[in-house]
Amino acid sequence: ALEVHDVHKWYGTHRVLDGIDLTVRPGEVTAILGPSGSGKSTLLRVINHLEKPEIGYVSVGGELIGVKRNGGRLKELSERTILTQRSRIGFVFQNFNLFPHLTVLDNVAAAPVATGRLNKPEARELARELLTRVGLGDRTGAYPRQLSGGQQQRVAIARALALRPGIILFDEPTSALDPELVGEVLSVIKDLATSGTTLVIVTHEIGFAREVADRVVFIDGGRIVEQGPPSQVLDKPRHERTRDFLSKVL
Ligand code: ATP
Ligand code: MG
Repeated sequence: ALEVHDVHKWYGTHRVLDGIDLTVRPGEVTAILGPSGSGKSTLLRVINHLEKPEIGYVSVGGELIGVKRNGGRLKELSERTILTQRSRIGFVFQNFNLFPHLTVLDNVAAAPVATGRLNKPEARELARELLTRVGLGDRTGAYPRQLSGGQQQRVAIARALALRPGIILFDEPTSALDPELVGEVLSVIKDLATSGTTLVIVTHEIGFAREVADRVVFIDGGRIVEQGPPSQVLDKPRHERTRDFLSKVL
């Protein structure tokens, strides 16, 4: 399970996360919704320890991310240990972030080799398998610039899968795509969801959240305003702010 425990994050006097508690059980798909600037990306970055919370902590599979307990206090882990932990948490960004100078195959094979989990032939074999899974088995030799945005994002998903992460975080994975390319990426994410991968997805695709998410979490002003099954949060929201947000994005 992923556990976010009373996380606070601020920049100067600006509180970006203001006491977030969140539990995601293994195999569960959680969609995070909220207005621009509400702290969604920051929350994903805190989960991955790309940002350090001022208060609170995150654990994945019972292991504290980025810190350890030292008596009653939390003590920062070494950069090396944090990197290892991070490699168990997949992260798919809005803008793909592929390596432009590597082929599609090597984009996917790179991390398992760099982390010493697989040798190069093994990593390439796995990469071929994963690229086939996301529908790109015939484009392994291409470079990112030769692919459409939807194809690049599918490569990024295969790359995240290559480290066999316990959980994958998606930050608006389709918002940089042309509308006609959104569906192909959502369908790959849907396959992951049905295969039991634990997913946390920040998205503005309400229809997708309704279909795929076990739970929808609505965030505003760095706080969870409400959460629950899609049928509740999306169709019968209890809070005015949620209703207001949904009326704008639907
Ligand atoms: P969007 O939907 O536009 O992506 P978001 O919900 O992902 O928004 P965040 O990116 O988490 O929002 O940002 C939350 C707030 O924190 C914003 O007001 C942003 O300006 C601020 N913020 C984010 N990162 C930093 C930083 N490194 N330094 C200062 N302020 C920051
Ligand atoms: Mg964001």
